[in-house]
Amino acid sequence: MDIFVAPVKFSNALMLGDLIAELSRRFYSKINLIELPVNIENHMSKERKQYFSTSIIAEAINFTSAYDGKVILLTDLDIFVPVLTFIFGEAQLNGKHSIVSACRLHEEFYSGKSDDKILFERLMKEILHELGHNFGLRHCLDWDCVMHSSPGIEEVDIKGNAYCNKCLPKVEGCKQYFH
Ligand SMILES: [Zn+2]
Ligand SMILES: [Zn+2]
Repeated sequence: MDIFVAPVKFSNALMLGDLIAELSRRFYSKINLIELPVNIENHMSKERKQYFSTSIIAEAINFTSAYDGKVILLTDLDIFVPVLTFIFGEAQLNGKHSIVSACRLHEEFYSGKSDDKILFERLMKEILHELGHNFGLRHCLDWDCVMHSSPGIEEVDIKGNAYCNKCLPKVEGCKQYFH
């Protein structure tokens, strides 16, 4: 099963290349870069000045029937679902689509200092996490596991960057990861 990465208002091409290279190392699956004609302005909440992730995914679905595999949208935009102030990502449980936002994974969002290495680590964790949900995984209690819940940036940084031995077999095409 292939994995398709679709940047939607994601401007850092260098980071995108690094993420695809790392995913290719982590998966036996083919990692493809695709473009989806999502009109992001359809999904902005004027009151919140944020973008509704479930609605972005719903539009993306219209363009992905030709892609056999998992489709992960990557964005710089600040995304939300109505019950939460913000989210790092959202995925269809046991589904095909997910979205990850870099907006609040940027170190400058917290300390004012930009750090691409930290951003890369956080993005990889959140991409693997949302992909895990696509493969039917729910949150894991193991802090070493990337499927641990991470509602805030502290949890993203604390949790591990790979699937634990219980979660890994559910993720089709994922290699075992050695630190
Ligand atoms: Zn989750
Ligand atoms: Zn786990």
